[in-house]
Amino acid sequence: RTVYVNGEFLPEDQAKISIFDRAFLMADGVYEVTSVLGGKLIDFSGHLKRLARSLDALEMVNPLSDDEWLSIHRKLVEVNGIDEGLVYLQVTRGAPGDRDFAWPDPATCPPGVVLFTQNKPGLADSPAAKVGMKVISIPDIRWGRRDIKTTQLLYPSMGKMMAKKAGADDAWLVEDGLVTEGTSNNTYIVKGNQIITRQLSTDILHGITRAAVLTFAREAQMEVVERPFTIAEAQQADEAFITSASAFVMPVVEIDGATLGDGKPGRVASRMREIYLDEMRKAAI
Ligand code: PLP
Repeated sequence: RTVYVNGEFLPEDQAKISIFDRAFLMADGVYEVTSVLGGKLIDFSGHLKRLARSLDALEMVNPLSDDEWLSIHRKLVEVNGIDEGLVYLQVTRGAPGDRDFAWPDPATCPPGVVLFTQNKPGLADSPAAKVGMKVISIPDIRWGRRDIKTTQLLYPSMGKMMAKKAGADDAWLVEDGLVTEGTSNNTYIVKGNQIITRQLSTDILHGITRAAVLTFAREAQMEVVERPFTIAEAQQADEAFITSASAFVMPVVEIDGATLGDGKPGRVASRMREIYLDEMRKAAI
């Protein structure tokens, strides 16, 4: 596999970064994951906008123009022959040479840039979408700026492991009795004609997929209600689902052991997945 590191395209086993890179020492980096379907990038402009926002929030400089980001993504997709899969991009604050909590002046320390692809044949036609996910709830003990997409992902990893050990697929995070989001996705419940999902704030990541799905939901005459909900309310809902750039729309059929409805993926979730994939494939670049 060919990867991109700091201006160069290299075989993955020849790629190197400094041990002083602050992403390695302090999780001082931000990232994006863009899906590839039919060899094309899904919602790429959405990812670039959020990348700019994350960088801004951490006073980091965007090292590349939108055109440069696009051409690197396209080249990696092409040379690695990705039809369905992902492109991961990471921007770090770079490697100042010593370990120090205060960050360096960007003028003296260029940011680090790493991109690689993951081949995922069958990404869109996922069997999991036909079965639905089981989730457990766990306390949300993350930091207070979850709207910044940083590489600080230890607690989400722990949550995934807790879910696995419990025989579930993922964990929903709960703060003050209310669901914030999933370990790596935004969360929704469906009640009648309403799609309910937590409002945007610093408490959750502003999902690119969330924005698109809510637009499509409104276009499909669903009522979108942006408010938090409890696990108990979710367990009583008609349906539940999650969204993310790599899972698209994925139905949830069990929450903390309670089966939703008949235990099969809901009609709204399945329809939203179909609409999302159709529309985003059309707009892919
Ligand atoms: N919330 C968290 C914590 C995430 O890590 C992610 C995706 O990685 C999402 C939500 C979904 O965001 P997106 O739809 O932009 O992938």
